[in-house]
Amino acid sequence: MNHAQKTGRAPRVVIIGAGMSGMLMAIKLLEAGIENFRIFDKASDLGGTWRENTYPGIACDIASHYYTYSFEPNPGWSSRLPQGQEIQQYLLRVAEKYRLRRYISFNKEVVDGRHDGQRWHLKMRDGEALEADVVVACCGLLHHPRFPNIKGRDDFAGPSFHSARWNHQVDLDGKRVAVIGNGSTGAQIIASLAVRPLQLKVFLRTPQWIFPLPNRTYSAVERRVLTWFPSLAKLTYYFYRTAFERTFARAVIQPGWQRRLLSRVCRWNLNRVKDPDLRRKLTPDYAPLCKRMVMSVDFYPAIQRSNVDLVTDDIDRIEARGVVTRDGRLHEADALIFATGFDAHAYFRPLQLTNAGGQTLASAWSEGPVAHRTVSVPGFPNFFMTLGPQSPIGNFSAISIAETQIDYIMKCIRMIRTGSVRTLAPTQAATHTFNSRVRAAMPDTIWVSGCTSWYIGENGVPSAWPFSGARFREELRAPRLEEFEVVA
Ligand code: NAP
Repeated sequence: MNHAQKTGRAPRVVIIGAGMSGMLMAIKLLEAGIENFRIFDKASDLGGTWRENTYPGIACDIASHYYTYSFEPNPGWSSRLPQGQEIQQYLLRVAEKYRLRRYISFNKEVVDGRHDGQRWHLKMRDGEALEADVVVACCGLLHHPRFPNIKGRDDFAGPSFHSARWNHQVDLDGKRVAVIGNGSTGAQIIASLAVRPLQLKVFLRTPQWIFPLPNRTYSAVERRVLTWFPSLAKLTYYFYRTAFERTFARAVIQPGWQRRLLSRVCRWNLNRVKDPDLRRKLTPDYAPLCKRMVMSVDFYPAIQRSNVDLVTDDIDRIEARGVVTRDGRLHEADALIFATGFDAHAYFRPLQLTNAGGQTLASAWSEGPVAHRTVSVPGFPNFFMTLGPQSPIGNFSAISIAETQIDYIMKCIRMIRTGSVRTLAPTQAATHTFNSRVRAAMPDTIWVSGCTSWYIGENGVPSAWPFSGARFREELRAPRLEEFEVVA
């Protein structure tokens, strides 16, 4: 009989979300010998972001061997920058290997959680209720599609959809297609549609800096070598992690040669736009890297094609036949695509939480989402999340960040399992200290240099990590008991 059985405290864990981090949480629980858990996902299959986003051109601009679980290298990646479908296939294979489907209930959305001082009482949208000792929200970051607040959005007569809800029933070839938005998603869609037999109209409100990150297909020999020598595949993971953390990730958090170099490359890249008028329209008036940098070698060639028309006039309204700009011009379209991003500050909401004292998450977060060390919320015991407020995002591999967070959460769960604590929630003081340190480092970052971006929260502070990856791993190395309110 193990210690958990002796103390009778084998915790029942509920994981919300069967995407990359929910799967990871399940794998870590299984590794620790904890099988008393379930994963609930509101969708009908696993994969999260990579199941939901299927727009043409979808790819990840983080190196494939780094966008991988560190313990599950994938020698078979077909190229340096993985395609969305390939990432989804990788996740499905990992789920198969660890037999995760046994633990997942699909089409189940957890909408309410109440803590009674001992455990969580959860409710699903369909009315089902269940109890849990520990809840881990692995809901991803960019999963609430954001539609622009443009008059007449519902008046459009043709098909219209958000990039994250691509309608594959609609054949766009031969049509006049309007795309609103030119962030990382919009740029990939534009580059991909531009080479098809259709007329493309791109509505661009703010130009983006574009970094020409080259892709490359891996040869059969390269893939075979990595299959024969799995340690080499692991080494490749750490090579890309180090390279990424020392360049892109460093450039955004502090001035230095990395920032200067990346900025120079972006400015040089803009010269690939030959027409001076078009180049002027595509020239941002803020510093490179302030918004999440778009990585693309195809965007500028695409926007210069004869079947592509760039519109930089402000949009006034949408009508049945198309988009009307402020100058009164109607831009007729047969299909309208919103590449207008996500609500990055919703986190695991609309899930409502209430603690034993009657405090709701809405009141705890009334001045914006805050978390202790990015994973837990004061006042809400035994509740954890991945990719929470101030997590390193945008400039790191989300998988690698989730691994660090989940290792930390597992250490908390181990304390509960061994019986040394029953519940734990971070103190207000520790949370305040952590967030004060984070805020104090923001002025050095590029995110506050004068642009709007999805990083910036309701309180005007970027919800991002202003330090290095090494510092993040150090800060989350192990929970410090003095930072928690503990019930034994
Ligand atoms: P985004 O970066 O938030 O871009 C949204 C776009 O929509 C912007 O161009 C924005 O213009 C435009 N927009 C919003 N409201 C508008 C309005 N009312 N009128 C006109 N334009 C409007 O969203 P995203 O492109 O989906 O990317 C989000 C994040 O997802 C990325 O930053 C990245 O971290 C991640 N992502 C990653 C990859 C990858 O390869 N790893 C690929 C896709 C996405 P303004 O700039 O003027 O607001």
